[in-house]
Amino acid sequence: MQLTSQELIVAVYEMKGYAAVEPILVKLPQHKLIPFVSKIPEIGPFIENMPQETPKKSRSRSVKRVRNQLGQRSKEKEKPIPCQFCGEESIDFNNNEKIDLHYVLHCSMLTNCVACTQIIEVSSYTQHKLDECEKKADFKKCNRCLEAIELDFFEQHDTA
Ligand SMILES: [Zn+2]
Ligand SMILES: [Zn+2]
Ligand SMILES: [Zn+2]
Repeated sequence: MQLTSQELIVAVYEMKGYAAVEPILVKLPQHKLIPFVSKIPEIGPFIENMPQETPKKSRSRSVKRVRNQLGQRSKEKEKPIPCQFCGEESIDFNNNEKIDLHYVLHCSMLTNCVACTQIIEVSSYTQHKLDECEKKADFKKCNRCLEAIELDFFEQHDTA
């Protein structure tokens, strides 16, 4: 009986295990690997990690189309978005996590309330501490500098 190379690979796999056929399989193109999946389950994750093969039919056209889509997508991505508070623009601000990080760490117009940790606009931070903060009882307005001073430090601040 003459074995096709596919049957041979499966036969080797069944006798010696995946390690014995892996070096052969990894060299095959994706479409040649797919018939093996039912017999060699280890190949499944490997195929999933492969870059998608472009279908042979109308290859040049679809490549061009893919490239156009990529071009458009990356152009959209590269458009900087301004921070609504400080006006700083960054491509990163397309990403919600990154703009949140900007708000918390870098935005010059925003600050974290020391008492409740909410993110507050710097311009209304004093007001926040005196009126809106859930811990506003911890602050007292200094009539000299009009700042909201933590009660613990008020005496010290007032006599300084
Ligand atoms: Zn900002
Ligand atoms: Zn607060
Ligand atoms: Zn003061």
